[in-house]
Amino acid sequence: MDVTFFDREIETLPAERIRTLQEAKLAAVVASTYGINRFVTEKFDASGAEPGDLRTLDDLVGLPFTTKAELQAAQDEGPLSTNCTFPENAYTRIHQTSGTTGRPLRVFDTAQSWDWWGRCWGFVLAGAGLTAQDRLFVPFSFGPFIGFWAALGGAEKIRALMVSGGGRTSTQRLRLMADMEVTAMTCTPTYALRLAEVAREEAFDLSTIPMRITVHAGEPGANVPATKDRIEAAWGAKCYDHAGASEVGAHSFECQAQPGGTHAIESEFVIEVVDPLTGHQVSGGDDGELVITNLGRVGFPVFRYRTGDMVRVDSTPCPCGRTFTRFDGGVLGRADDMAVVRGVNVYPTAVEHLLRSHRAVGEFRVTITRHREMAEMLIEIECTDGADSKETIRAVGRTFETSLGLRPEVAMVPQGTLPRFELKAQRFKIV
Ligand SMILES: [Zn+2]
Repeated sequence: MDVTFFDREIETLPAERIRTLQEAKLAAVVASTYGINRFVTEKFDASGAEPGDLRTLDDLVGLPFTTKAELQAAQDEGPLSTNCTFPENAYTRIHQTSGTTGRPLRVFDTAQSWDWWGRCWGFVLAGAGLTAQDRLFVPFSFGPFIGFWAALGGAEKIRALMVSGGGRTSTQRLRLMADMEVTAMTCTPTYALRLAEVAREEAFDLSTIPMRITVHAGEPGANVPATKDRIEAAWGAKCYDHAGASEVGAHSFECQAQPGGTHAIESEFVIEVVDPLTGHQVSGGDDGELVITNLGRVGFPVFRYRTGDMVRVDSTPCPCGRTFTRFDGGVLGRADDMAVVRGVNVYPTAVEHLLRSHRAVGEFRVTITRHREMAEMLIEIECTDGADSKETIRAVGRTFETSLGLRPEVAMVPQGTLPRFELKAQRFKIV
């Protein structure tokens, strides 16, 4: 395999040298923020931590976590945040979270930290095999959500040609992609499937687009094997997973070896995995919540940020040669989206995989209802063309019974009934 790297030397450093690099960067972030950044200083002081005590990564556990609620409170005096290290004139960008769950959180970048975002996306795009020969299509409306804005910085770093595809319909986007002969695309997995659906409806031949690589972020999906298969089949391209968050940065990516998970960009982030209830570190290989300290965003840093994303560390060597640690299966789901149905832990990604493994299932929606101590699952599905709806309902029911030991209620709805999404999908609801 011809593996492409963004920074081969950094990506293949032995673990102890990555650790030394992280410790040096961490000390630099602390020195540049403590006593200057009000949010950081108050957190250190309230916990009794002395910045000088933070010498190794092991010392990090002496610091308290940072939560989304704290960062939201830090913007109450607005429009800036007490987590802004510098005066306003140092900043060149304000973005905010997508707001799919609750109040949007604002984040702030200086020219230097925006360059760092681009560097992180450089690892993502080169990791998927993109080079200066590629034309990258970004079908994204360039609003305040940071989303794929940072992908542009990554495309610049690897010198790929970026084709922006905001402000137009899906049909217009398909035509633009064919006209520009784009070879790569970055969007949510949901939108990659939506574009393929529109192409089918309009008899647009996707093979007129010389797509070879798709990179997906914003939600799980490219890490769900059955969803990945669908995207690859529809586009005739290799599909790659990537995860990040407005609050922390673009932190992990799937490499060309596709070992069934993603690499964490350890030169730019310190990764911890904790029990979401107790906050204690889990043992290697156990599921836990991803906690991140970023090392390149001095203007808006986070120390031990609780991402709410569930991951499982895989420390076996990767065939691509990178030494960055891996998340087995990527981001498994949100800690608060994991539902317990009749005693079974159910991740939305597991449900999505089971549904998408049925060719007859098109769009779907899952509602989990709690009655006293009991939870019930309702699955609404749209059939694809020509599928037998009764047989599909029976087959889906059997899959859930065999794989999860559950008997959800499965209902068929007419094609086109369920909502379609262009960014993050909301197919799971717990009521
Ligand atoms: Zn790899």
